[in-house]
Amino acid sequence: MTTSKIDNLEIRNLTEDTLLVHQKKPPFYFSCSDGIIILPKKRRNDSSIVLDLNVEPHLIDELDDIYGPFTDYICSHGHMDHIAHVHQWESLGAKIHAPFPEHTYLLELHNFYKGFGFIDVMDFSVVKEFAEKNGYRECQKVIPFKPGHTFEFEGLIIETIPLLSHSKAHVSFWIPEERLFHISCLGFDKNKPEKDGFGPWYGFKECSIEQYLIDIAQAELFFLERANFLTSSHSYIIKNPDRTPFIYMRGKIAKNQELVDNAIKSHNLTNKSIDTINYLLNLDLFFPKRKMEGYLLEIYYFWESGIIRKHVERSEYLN
Ligand SMILES: [Zn+2]
Repeated sequence: MTTSKIDNLEIRNLTEDTLLVHQKKPPFYFSCSDGIIILPKKRRNDSSIVLDLNVEPHLIDELDDIYGPFTDYICSHGHMDHIAHVHQWESLGAKIHAPFPEHTYLLELHNFYKGFGFIDVMDFSVVKEFAEKNGYRECQKVIPFKPGHTFEFEGLIIETIPLLSHSKAHVSFWIPEERLFHISCLGFDKNKPEKDGFGPWYGFKECSIEQYLIDIAQAELFFLERANFLTSSHSYIIKNPDRTPFIYMRGKIAKNQELVDNAIKSHNLTNKSIDTINYLLNLDLFFPKRKMEGYLLEIYYFWESGIIRKHVERSEYLN
């Protein structure tokens, strides 16, 4: 069932008491993520709770008119598309929970700049411009939780399951009573079955391909054994026993490796040095950096070098 009471939002019932909300047209690349609203229910939560729904502030206000009040908001990790608009939930009275240590990124942009290593390669002004474009504003107060923490709101249980390949705080959400598994940003980013996406994202130093393969296997088992539905930050809804997300994510990582390996072979590169990484970076293997400029170019340069470095380290064709 699809209800579209709000312009630019797609609101779908997963179960009677849970909604998947998606902003159809984000104002900028990294400004939005889909999330879950858990509606009030007798002998359970008596007001609505939100999981990782980062959409534009005026849309949050409209959601509040229909489904509010919201007492608690749980963030999945500290990437920009998951933190930019959280301040608006706070201003409506929701308590903000976010995983340690990335909870500090919601409080101060400089923590985001430092924590993800932008500080090593670019000025703060670059990240500031990026944040402003995405509508980022700081929260006043954020309650940290440890990835793996189980929330209990009256009778409602929400387990957070760490999937740390994507970031050092990244969690998925399991709602046992609804048999709903939300894998957040693990890397299933097809918004329609026929559409393609980038797949698992590992542009920061702290991301790990090894850990990705472990997380994907763990999430797959968990989904097949326990859940009815799988949702994520940027995808359509998956019903058990559809294994599409896991096949897709593994396939994307393998394809990225192949892309780097083929470039290594055809350009006769021999070692894992910084020169090799820079050489590959200038081939625009992953992102069309030639078409970019300004702060966006710097940021994509940084991300792509992180991605390439991980594949160079894994390449069988280099010493
Ligand atoms: Zn992310």
